Amino acid sequence: MAEKRDYYEVLGVAKGASDDEIKKAYRKLSKKYHPDINKEADAEEKFKEITEAYEILSDPQKRAAYDQYGHAGTNSNYGGFGGGYSDFGGFGGGSGFGGFEDIFESFFGGAGGGRGANPNAPRQGADLQYPINLKFEEAIFGVEKTIKYNREETCHTCGGNGAKPGTQPVTCSKCGGSGQINVERQTPLGRVMSRQTCDVCHGTGKEIKDPCPTCQGTGHEKRAHEVKVNVPAGVEEGQQMRLSGQGEAGTNGGPYGDLYVIFRVEESDIFDRDGSEIYYEMPLNFVQAALGDEVNVPTVHGDVKLKIPAGTQTGTVFRLRGKGAPKLRGSGTGDQQVKVKLITPKNLSDEQREALRNFAEVSGTKLNEQQSEGFFDKMKDAFSGKKK
Ligand code: ZN
Ligand code: ZN
Repeated sequence: MAEKRDYYEVLGVAKGASDDEIKKAYRKLSKKYHPDINKEADAEEKFKEITEAYEILSDPQKRAAYDQYGHAGTNSNYGGFGGGYSDFGGFGGGSGFGGFEDIFESFFGGAGGGRGANPNAPRQGADLQYPINLKFEEAIFGVEKTIKYNREETCHTCGGNGAKPGTQPVTCSKCGGSGQINVERQTPLGRVMSRQTCDVCHGTGKEIKDPCPTCQGTGHEKRAHEVKVNVPAGVEEGQQMRLSGQGEAGTNGGPYGDLYVIFRVEESDIFDRDGSEIYYEMPLNFVQAALGDEVNVPTVHGDVKLKIPAGTQTGTVFRLRGKGAPKLRGSGTGDQQVKVKLITPKNLSDEQREALRNFAEVSGTKLNEQQSEGFFDKMKDAFSGKKK
């Protein structure tokens, strides 16, 4: 596609220009460059450019599509489904690009882009959503899941045309195949003619004399559908993945919609995770922390030996490189962060208590003995009136 200029730039107006400003700019420029008036070599080219810009920006729906998707949102030269989309190959990244028709439909209501208000036009089917529950580890390492759901499919008996096998739909007798009829209405202002969707063929332009026994003429049937989903390693809670063509059947030969799977990741009792980083809180007693130790740390990749240096403080964080989750975008794996939590011993035996008293003595800590006395000892002291 040749490099196209921005439509606003072509008309020389600001992005937020009013309809009036756009109209004025167009009138001025189209007079200036009209090939009958302007004999310069590039006048005709300029005139076309101005006209195209005005056609888009003067139509609220087309302008909205252009504002959001640029020129890709306004291309009117495509020729129906299955062809002419190559221009948009780069749109939306490498994940395939089945959504353009959808974007187009939603902006133009099936009535724009030179396709006219043709109800016979192919339409893409509806998109579906499906949640996939994953265990903590499955989200980290990836997994293959088979999911099963019901969806509207193209009728397998009639191939979607709605006619009983051996018969064909015929051109609608009421509208002659246009899908629309003229209706005359009496209004307070007089008789008014309006176009309406044909009530016999519902806009398809085709009449089915002998409906298909499976779908009763709708061309669709509800069926159980199975899809294998390769959950990539490193997905996170709430992330979505689009599976092209796994949604519901289109109408008038339009393509299937898409399926969006949403990942629901179970929490771990042991770990926390944020992106590719995994967090683990490691309990140590103060002897291990004071003297140093070598401990086994659980990771999602299996236990890892970790040297605890003598004199480690509570809250110290050790980093186990590459023991986190894979990075979903880009390459490599995150780390596991191990945060030390010092645990104060409870329910000491007499022997342990004695050892600690000795420790306190040699380290010059003067303990207030009352702290180490039991509750009943204190009660006894209180009743006997013993003074400290
Ligand atoms: Zn009809
Ligand atoms: Zn059928």
